[in-house]
Amino acid sequence: MSNSGMESLGPNSEFNETPLKIAIVGFGNFGQFIAKGIQRQGHVVLASSRSDYSDYCNENGIKFFKNLEGLCEEEPDIVLICSSILSTESVTLGIPFHKLKQDTIFADVLSVKEFPRNLFLDVLPPEFGIVCTHPMFGPDSGRHGWAGLPFVYDEVRILEGSTQAQKCAQFLSIFQKEGCRMVEMSCEEHDRYAAGTQFITHTIGRILSHLNLESTPINTNGFETLLHLTESTVSDSFDLYYGLFMYNVNAMEQIENLSRAFEAVKQKLFSRLHGILKKQIIERVSFQTSIPEEKPGSYFLPDNKKMKDFSSFAEPSEKTSKEQEDE
Ligand code: NAP
Repeated sequence: MSNSGMESLGPNSEFNETPLKIAIVGFGNFGQFIAKGIQRQGHVVLASSRSDYSDYCNENGIKFFKNLEGLCEEEPDIVLICSSILSTESVTLGIPFHKLKQDTIFADVLSVKEFPRNLFLDVLPPEFGIVCTHPMFGPDSGRHGWAGLPFVYDEVRILEGSTQAQKCAQFLSIFQKEGCRMVEMSCEEHDRYAAGTQFITHTIGRILSHLNLESTPINTNGFETLLHLTESTVSDSFDLYYGLFMYNVNAMEQIENLSRAFEAVKQKLFSRLHGILKKQIIERVSFQTSIPEEKPGSYFLPDNKKMKDFSSFAEPSEKTSKEQEDE
């Protein structure tokens, strides 16, 4: 079992083979999006899903099957699982494997990788090939094309030197020819990186969505980025976000890190504020024990006359000996 020979493919390498027949199982938001790239590369797309997408498929040159038996009887080269993370186990177990060819390749696009790899190894017939992938983009980030966008893959079980290996390379070349940045990586490594990047991004986007942020006439570039992040994360289903959490063993640690980081920032702010208030209270006490010349105003605010900007709120820094001399 080994690499299908992806590394030998230049960006413009041509296959003389017949187009692949790719069966997409789970034809929602992402399934439809990925089908467009597959079709652009001249391959045949079949689809099946819980919901009926017959009309969409008729309009887009795709054969739709209301049941998985019909889909499998077409003997696709690749079965590409595009269902939600949460439903993938039941969807995969519902596929009649015996109706498929012996060298069928199972692939997936799930945003977590260890889970589908283990599931496929566990339930698929041993002669089936397995390639786990994660296109690190979606209908929003990939709407103007896939050039330069990362595509992670792990050839988990592909029979070396076989037709299966050649078909696997042909499948991966779809993304390479679309201009994706191909990243070969183990499923474990993917999940470690993804928890610290994609899951954190989604979490921040979801948190921001609770603030009901609105565009203003004075948006900074940073704020525009936050607005866009909020919009793009909430346009993904909550099932997807929940899947990133539930099916990635590293996600819990990241949630805890995030929570600790927020507390650390609050602590830093409040401890400085506390320092200023404490100092003013002590000054006030010493003022009152001496004879006050005039009644002090609000002690929290700096003296109006001295206040030039908000830096007056900062704790006074140690004076240099030069400044002390000048006084
Ligand atoms: P999703 O909410 O994660 O998944 C929707 C798909 O799952 C639809 O095809 C839906 O079928 C199917 N589904 C949901 N519950 C089901 C159930 N109980 N039984 C059978 N099928 C069920 O949204 P998505 O954005 O389309 O993502 C699909 C997959 O692509 C996910 O695994 C996700 O991690 C991956 N992915 C998404 C993106 C992205 O940007 N959206 C990027 C990379 C990878 P029906 O439509 O027929 O109901």
